[in-house]
Amino acid sequence: MNAGTQASGGPKLFRKKTIRDVDVQGKRVLVRVDFNVPLDAGTGRVGVADDTRIRAALPTIDYLRSRGARLILVSHLGRPQDRDPALSMEPVGKRLAELTGARVWQAPAVVGEEVERRADRLEAGEILLLENSRYEPGETGNDPKLAEGLAKLADLYVDDAFGAAHRAHATTDGVARRLPAVAGLLLEREVSVVSSLLDGAASPLVVVLGGAKVSGKIGVIERFLEIADAILIGGAMCFSFFRAQGIATGDSLAPEEGTELARRALELAERSSCRLELPSDLVIGDSFSAQAATRIVEGTDVPDGWMGLDVGPRTAKAYADEVGEAATVFWNGPMGAFEMEPFENGTRIVAEAVAETSATTVIGGGDSVAAAERYGIVDRIDHISTGGGAALQLLEGKPLPGVEVLQDA
Ligand code: ADP
Ligand code: MG
Repeated sequence: MNAGTQASGGPKLFRKKTIRDVDVQGKRVLVRVDFNVPLDAGTGRVGVADDTRIRAALPTIDYLRSRGARLILVSHLGRPQDRDPALSMEPVGKRLAELTGARVWQAPAVVGEEVERRADRLEAGEILLLENSRYEPGETGNDPKLAEGLAKLADLYVDDAFGAAHRAHATTDGVARRLPAVAGLLLEREVSVVSSLLDGAASPLVVVLGGAKVSGKIGVIERFLEIADAILIGGAMCFSFFRAQGIATGDSLAPEEGTELARRALELAERSSCRLELPSDLVIGDSFSAQAATRIVEGTDVPDGWMGLDVGPRTAKAYADEVGEAATVFWNGPMGAFEMEPFENGTRIVAEAVAETSATTVIGGGDSVAAAERYGIVDRIDHISTGGGAALQLLEGKPLPGVEVLQDA
């Protein structure tokens, strides 16, 4: 954590209009938020298990309410089949009311005449929470009729859903083409911070990558090979690299399609001044289970019948040291199957190093953020991104549809 400077790229990295540039007094403002939160159905009454994403939207919500806007909020929640009542926004609305102190009305649907009537009746500072946008089949298909129905509800559209900005859906794209459309404060900050990693990050820039899916992250590796000082690979991802090098990976998670991608990254790395580092030791288990028999292997050969489930202690220490000497750190993807205690050490040691370094630190990715919470380091990180997929897409250098569609500043 860098105490002196915030991990903010400043306004120059964000070239879209925001809510600060428009007059919202008395207007019906449709805000696309990312309230795709985990629910816990524990005692029969469904509640919000983790309200981080709701709290992340509060700066925008408070800003708009304090300036007399009438708020209509929309988000998706999970992947409902039809209108599965278990994925209703109702528990989210309750939590939102507690967090904002606002009057929160629950809409009975996403669009339609009844929803329009309720939007019209809203008083300044009140909130109407629409139902789960994925109750509408037209959401993911970016259906013009759904976008039209959403546009009818409001005078202004605000996108504050960084976690959904990589998708061109009716609530992130279609409706934004039918109303004046600007960014919320969370979206602005997320895009600015993530973009600042690619544009002017203080050196040494150390990138720690792990997790399960190499295919979704290879573009990011290629991009960082051009600008970072070191890329430290852990998680299941390293086995794609080992396979590409002809090293035995036993039963480790190493999907075939990752091998070719890893081979290409290794080739690029040879011509790059950025170091691409792989683990030098591993923790292996005889099954994907917290009860598995475990062993530490020096070197990286994984015997048949075993799988690599964490980086070893030597690797964890080496990665932590590099993080400690960095000026900027980006971490995405756990170092091992950290949800199981025997395989959590690598992730914990790296997490603690990211918390303790004097570097500016950014963490992205749902499971990496879960790890940061588990090890109690959230408050010591400069920026925790609410959007894993969107952050990676931005880091690959690909535009985000949800941002592109907004008005230019
Ligand atoms: P993020 O959500 O941070 O982007 P990913 O979704 O790519 O991260 O990957 C997270 C998952 O990767 C975790 O559930 C973790 O258990 C798993 N994982 C990490 N290392 C391994 C490994 N060596 N073998 C199997 N799974 C792993
Ligand atoms: Mg994940």
